[in-house]
Amino acid sequence: MRKSPPRGAGSRPEAMKVGVFNIGKILSGDLAAPVTRGHTIIMADGKIVSVGNGGNVADCDIAIDAAGMMVMPGLIDSHVHITFGDYTPRQRTVGFLESYIHGGVTTCVSASEVHVPGRPRDPAGVKALAIAAHKSFESYRPGGMRVHAGSIILEPGLTDADFAEMQREGVWLAKAGFGNFGTPYEYAPYVAMARKHGMVSMVHTGGSSIPGSTGIWADHLIKIQPDVSYHVNGGPIAMPNADFPRLVNETNIAMQVCTAGNLRTTLLVAKLLTEKRQLQRLLIATDTPTGSGIMPLGMLYTMSHLVSLGGVPPEIAVAMATGNNARVYRLNSGVLAPDRDADLVLVDACSGGSQNDALSALNNGDIMGVGAVITNGVPRLVGRSRNTPETMRRAKIAHCRIPQGFAAEH
Ligand SMILES: [Zn+2]
Repeated sequence: MRKSPPRGAGSRPEAMKVGVFNIGKILSGDLAAPVTRGHTIIMADGKIVSVGNGGNVADCDIAIDAAGMMVMPGLIDSHVHITFGDYTPRQRTVGFLESYIHGGVTTCVSASEVHVPGRPRDPAGVKALAIAAHKSFESYRPGGMRVHAGSIILEPGLTDADFAEMQREGVWLAKAGFGNFGTPYEYAPYVAMARKHGMVSMVHTGGSSIPGSTGIWADHLIKIQPDVSYHVNGGPIAMPNADFPRLVNETNIAMQVCTAGNLRTTLLVAKLLTEKRQLQRLLIATDTPTGSGIMPLGMLYTMSHLVSLGGVPPEIAVAMATGNNARVYRLNSGVLAPDRDADLVLVDACSGGSQNDALSALNNGDIMGVGAVITNGVPRLVGRSRNTPETMRRAKIAHCRIPQGFAAEH
């Protein structure tokens, strides 16, 4: 299991204890057991201590009354175009990561720093870019967001020694799709080197998203054997229909569906994996910021589409956006269980709609409203999200014994 990034130099040593009580339903994020009994979660020093009925909220430094809302793990968007800082050059916007926190996203995984203006294409340059991006986000958490950055863009000429160096420097993500290769088949030995050096590998799937890059279809993926088919539903242009059953039946590759892609083939992937009883392979992500824009609520929309149009049970859609991503990317967040990272979100039906809880909202095709977000055991917002409509119920801080300014340092 991947360790949490180290804390920033300014963090204080004291362990803050936070409790959430009066929870309507605990959505665990674990596909195999998606609902946990009980009404209370206790966290201390950035980790979950107990989930269910144990723990004393009165002891906590901060106690949050969930007012009957449901809780789920913080969403993990496994396809975000990180560059440096909380800025996207593609959409010329500052503060998008902090904005995604208000959409219930608490972890972003870099889809490679391909949007860095003038990004290098030579082995020394892509290696330096991945290492610099990785280290830039080790302790930097915009709005409390956990960012896993530094995804090596596979280019011809990278050697085993390069991968060994990157591994030593902490790089653990590798991305195939934008390199200067003659055909996608040529990625295979590079993906194998990345795997040998402990990296999670992902391959762009579908039509080209950058002028000049070729389409990547099922036959390529079968030969390349990455861990993840990135935006298997197209980013944003999908591969042919006949290629989907091939990927499902001839590989064990995780299939990531993205909001900024082809909705019809997202639903096709869900149908095929449901029939195959392999829904643990379906990962939800957004593939933003891109030409499609910034989508702070993208994860919530894709969850709602899979449930209301694709027949996926709503608590399973939560797991696809949390625990499934955590398993494939070896993250310690994404599941509500003791010793996991204390990243969680209170959710509810939005006020003024026809539904009265978060799961029935998804069944109805609505998004869930975000009522509170906690990351690394620190409440980042309690009450009203800036981006979702207001929740029906309203979470509130029942008591707080923490000096002001604590959260800013964590
Ligand atoms: Zn992308």
